[in-house]
Parts: sequence; structure tokens; C-alpha cells
Amino acid sequence: MLKENLQNIENKICEACSVSGRSREDVTLIAVSKTKPVEVLQEAYDLGVRVFGENKVQELADKYEALPKDIRWHMIGHLQRNKVKYIIDKVELIHSVDSIRLAETIDREARKHNLTANILIEVNVAGEESKFGVAPDELDAFTDEIAQFSNIRVLGLMTIAPFVGNAEENRLIFERLRKLSVDIAGKNTHNITMGVLSMGMTNDYEVAVEEGATMVRVGTGIFGERDYSHV
Ligand SMILES: *Cc1c(COP(=O)(O)O)cnc(C)c1O
Repeated sequence: MLKENLQNIENKICEACSVSGRSREDVTLIAVSKTKPVEVLQEAYDLGVRVFGENKVQELADKYEALPKDIRWHMIGHLQRNKVKYIIDKVELIHSVDSIRLAETIDREARKHNLTANILIEVNVAGEESKFGVAPDELDAFTDEIAQFSNIRVLGLMTIAPFVGNAEENRLIFERLRKLSVDIAGKNTHNITMGVLSMGMTNDYEVAVEEGATMVRVGTGIFGERDYSHV
């Protein structure tokens, strides 16, 4: 099941790369393993998966302890400032930075560990009230401010597109995020590069790849439906 799902997604990513003239190596598949038990992650690991995405600090820290150390963990969920310290030395990338106060905390905790934290700025492209993220028209000022933190490296942007019936409906959202990243990159701000675009989930990752995603976050498509009744 896991094996077929991974193969299926791999094929679709390859196809999306080929129709958009992109190279497969430019897209990282993040296996979003939230709510799934360690055994299932181990199974994915045995099939070659090395990049996992989690959205809860405690869960990520527990799985980090239990699983092989060559896994690259990505924090993709909303992050509370008081919990940054539990994951700062465990994650390769934090996708969900949406406030200067959070950035300040990440910077401070990173300095304590003598490391530079890699982050993405989460942008609420669609302007959905229920979603976290910096508003597109605030992004310019936000990046100017975040540049002051010497233990943070901004690698790009992330967005969570709306849940839609037809993935095509999100194409403009992905295109907009890419354009925003081009605008920010053009400013050549200290500590800020825009090589990473984290966009696309199970329902729309192919469209996201066609529009320039360098990271897609796929959960259900790999692991099946999530069961929230025990968590
Ligand atoms: C859960 C989650 C995903 C994966 O969603 P699927 O629809 O299961 O692929 C991707 N990104 C974020 C931020 C998530 O919380």
C-alpha cells in the first residue's frame, strides 16, 4: 500500500516536472506523517523516505527520538513560541514562520545551540481568515524586519492553499506565491534567499509543481486518511 502510494506520487511528480520543463531533482517530496505511528514511519523509511513533515512539537520530538537519525524533519504546523526550544536542534526547516515575535524566539533559541535556523515565511495568499500566515501586502515589510536576525536564514515561502474540489482552482494561488518570492528575491535582502517554495498537498501537489513548488507536503496520498479519534 505505502509502496504503491509512493510510486504513484513519484510518477505524478515526474510528470508534472516534465510538462513544466522542470527537473525532478528540484522538487522534494515531504512525507507528512502527522498522527501516524512510528511503525508506519519506519515502514516508509525502509522504502527510502528520509524527509518527514510533522505539525505538532511533541509528536515531532517523540518521533525524532524513536527513529533513525538520518531522517530530515520538517516542522510544517503552526508553532508556539514557548515550544521552539523543543525542536530547534531537531528540524531541518521550519515552514511556518508568520510573526516577528516567533522569528525572534527562533533566533534566540538557535543562538543558544550555536546554529542557524532555516525557515520559510508562511504566506496567507488566499486571505482565508481561518489560516495563519503573513498577508501578501505585508510581506515586504516582514522580510525587511526578519533580516535583522543573525541566527535565522530565510530560504523561501510556504503557503497552505484552500481546500478545493478541483486542484486547478489553486493554480493562481501557487502562481501568486511564486511571483511574491521573485519580488522578495529581487530585493537582495541580507539573510534572505528565495530558493524554496513549499506549496501543494495531496489534492493539488501536481499543479503546485507545475507552478514552481520545490517542496510538496503530502500526507493522505502517502499514508492514507488520518484518524484523529485517538489524538
Ligand atoms: C496535514 C498537512 C499537509 C498534508 O495534507 P494532505 O492533504 O494529507 O496531503 C500539508 N501541509 C500542512 C501544513 C499540513 O498540516
